[in-house]
Amino acid sequence: MISAIRFFTQFLSSAATISLQLGKSAMKYIDEYRDERIAKALAREIAECITRPWVLMEICGGQTHTIMRYGLDELLPSQIELVHGPGCPVCVTPLETIDKAIALALRPDVTLVSYGDMLRVPGSNSDLFRAKAQGADVRLAYSPLEAVKIARANPDRKIVFLAIGFETTAPANAMTAWQAKREGLTNFSMLVSHVLVPPAIRALLASRENRVQGFIAPGHVCTVMGYQEYESLVREFAVPIVVGGFEPVDILEAVLMLVKQLECGKAQVENQYVRSVTYPGNQPAQEIMKKVFEIADQKWRGIGVIPRSGLRLRAEYATYDANKNFDLELISADEPAECISAQVLQGLRKPTDCPAFAIRCTPENPLGAPMVSAEGACAAYYHYRRHAVAS
Ligand code: SF4
Repeated sequence: MISAIRFFTQFLSSAATISLQLGKSAMKYIDEYRDERIAKALAREIAECITRPWVLMEICGGQTHTIMRYGLDELLPSQIELVHGPGCPVCVTPLETIDKAIALALRPDVTLVSYGDMLRVPGSNSDLFRAKAQGADVRLAYSPLEAVKIARANPDRKIVFLAIGFETTAPANAMTAWQAKREGLTNFSMLVSHVLVPPAIRALLASRENRVQGFIAPGHVCTVMGYQEYESLVREFAVPIVVGGFEPVDILEAVLMLVKQLECGKAQVENQYVRSVTYPGNQPAQEIMKKVFEIADQKWRGIGVIPRSGLRLRAEYATYDANKNFDLELISADEPAECISAQVLQGLRKPTDCPAFAIRCTPENPLGAPMVSAEGACAAYYHYRRHAVAS
């Protein structure tokens, strides 16, 4: 059965690629990754081969939302526990970075450019949305190069781009700094808070509290970075890692691949998301990242500093570092005591374990970032009604 399903999903992978090449009329093949019959067949096959409980983590918040939206956790046999990982960029951006962004936005000479989902992320006392309401010049961008365009058009203002995210957004953000340098812009800076997936998985596995026995690695990150970086983790911790996509059939197939490895005592890196991910990844994207950024220790919101888990601008690009240009290094802040997002992001607790969930913390009045972000686990549980509805 697995070989048939594997063949079918590989066929769909090729078909989807072809469909994208052919244009809109062939897009129907994307729907096949949401096909209920295939999803149920995969769930049955998982049930047939599982003999004991396993705890699996999907790293990416986009995968968490698919699991909640399609009820995949309820479709799987009860021996599978899915826990949710730290792969939501907005959720792991440190409180200090939000506070710095707000402080910058409130300066009369600064225009702060940000992705839209950062606006409602709570800082210590406020958020960018409220700062904007107070008169701060906060502008939304869909592409980081828009920030360069704003800088070019407004030479009398200081433009700061809030550059956050995983390896997925790092190449485009690197390209932005490269373009600013190329144009010789002197009124452009970046407040950088970039995080990397493999060091985060290493930190989770090295923790004495770790319960995770297999990982679904994030397909978008691996599209950029490939999956060679995961091989040392597999060898060192004897844990299987499967690169997974974002549709229900992708996730169920990744779970099946993990369960089959675990039941046989294997620990390998496998790639379920073959329609997008190659072993070496996107090398031009990696090159621009390396040209502009270097690896550095990085603080993760609620979790703390993880060694060598982030990116900072190289010395050649220091003139674009907002921390240096605006003397922001001394801002520090603590998380609200009530928010257990650190445990949620490490797979130790579920959003519904939080006493504030859906009571004092809602998308309209969030206490923590996972309730705001489109990739946050708390938002996923809230939107897909994994909580008692008050009568
Ligand atoms: S429900 Fe709100 S307060 Fe609780 S962990 Fe999630 S974001 Fe934090």
